[in-house]
Amino acid sequence: MIIRARVVVTMDGPPIENGAVAISGNRVVDVGKFPEIWARQSNRKIVDLGERALLPGLINAHCHLDYTCLRGRIRPQKSFADWIRAINSAKANLSSEDYIASITEGFAEAARFGTTTIVNLCAFPELVAQIDEPIRTWWFGELIDVRSSDCANEIVDLAVRSLKSKENWGLAPHALFTASPNVFRHCEEIARRENILLTTHLAESHEEFSMFREASGPLYKFMKEIGRDMNDCGHETPVGLFLGAPDWHNSTPPNWIVAHLNQLAESDFDLLATPTKVAGGGSTTTFAIVHCPRSHKYFGHSPFQFEKFRERGLNICLGTDSLASNVDLNLFAEMRQFQKTFLKISPAEILSMATVNPGRALRQETRLGKIRFGFYADLISVPCVSSSNVFEEIIAFDQPVDWSMIDGQVRSR
Ligand SMILES: [Zn+2]
Repeated sequence: MIIRARVVVTMDGPPIENGAVAISGNRVVDVGKFPEIWARQSNRKIVDLGERALLPGLINAHCHLDYTCLRGRIRPQKSFADWIRAINSAKANLSSEDYIASITEGFAEAARFGTTTIVNLCAFPELVAQIDEPIRTWWFGELIDVRSSDCANEIVDLAVRSLKSKENWGLAPHALFTASPNVFRHCEEIARRENILLTTHLAESHEEFSMFREASGPLYKFMKEIGRDMNDCGHETPVGLFLGAPDWHNSTPPNWIVAHLNQLAESDFDLLATPTKVAGGGSTTTFAIVHCPRSHKYFGHSPFQFEKFRERGLNICLGTDSLASNVDLNLFAEMRQFQKTFLKISPAEILSMATVNPGRALRQETRLGKIRFGFYADLISVPCVSSSNVFEEIIAFDQPVDWSMIDGQVRSR
């Protein structure tokens, strides 16, 4: 098949006017100007999308589809600890069937808004075998042992047994305040052995910062009340503890996808960037960062220090987080929210945070996030009339996406 569009936005060089992409099976096999592609691939059927842009499908680098059913149910709270209390009490009423329905609804919604790959943290890994994902999915088992720290390894191993039924999976110790060093270390061991990805929430709120740095604040009080051992509090920042304290890792930590990083001390930025200075000076980054602009706004976190991370060469991606702190699973809306805060960042760079960058974070830099020979045929198309600022028009798109292709299969609506 040859797909022609007024402009093909490859994210691999400038947009191609009157462009076309040739697809064979689930891969891109050619991309360029339509007349050239047609000459080279004349045996293929042509689908002309007309006055539209064709671009890589969007990649949501952080969400929890478990909580799609909590949309609009949890109002912003006075403190982060209160929000945790509120979500815990909402979750107490949910059954396995509710979670499966919630995840299914979330997948449909993400796909409707042009997401073709999703990083989904799942608090109930035992349910994942019952769900057929309609889009490319990395299933991360979310792990918490704060109330059962004597069986850290068992919790992780049980999750791994369920997750292995999926093609793409990883592990997500929830956060430093809910998962023990044993969980983190065991997850890193498994990551090395199975070559899987790891993700966690880090330095999300000022309350997490106060808990670890100062042994005070509402989160400190809450976690102490539920019986967490608070001996690691009162010394380090969350990033300092995660990277500096030997308890949390057996050896050099493997690559992590780290969500949030909203509350950092000045020294934390360099600490995060240090592992990028590999021998020989290559550009390998150890940490990918996920920023969730609308969830960030919902919580009223400290300003996200985008420029400081970017200066240090860290890979920054966008995510929606869950609908317990957001209104929908629309990455176009996340890009617009980001743009409102960071006026100087170009729309092209913003789009790369929902395509190329998360492709790299998932170690799929030769398969996902661009339109290029050999990449998966995961594409979306949106109307496009402007010729001067295609990227601006893409980010401004605020309707459901009515044409997409995942793994070479067209999903028109
Ligand atoms: Zn999250």
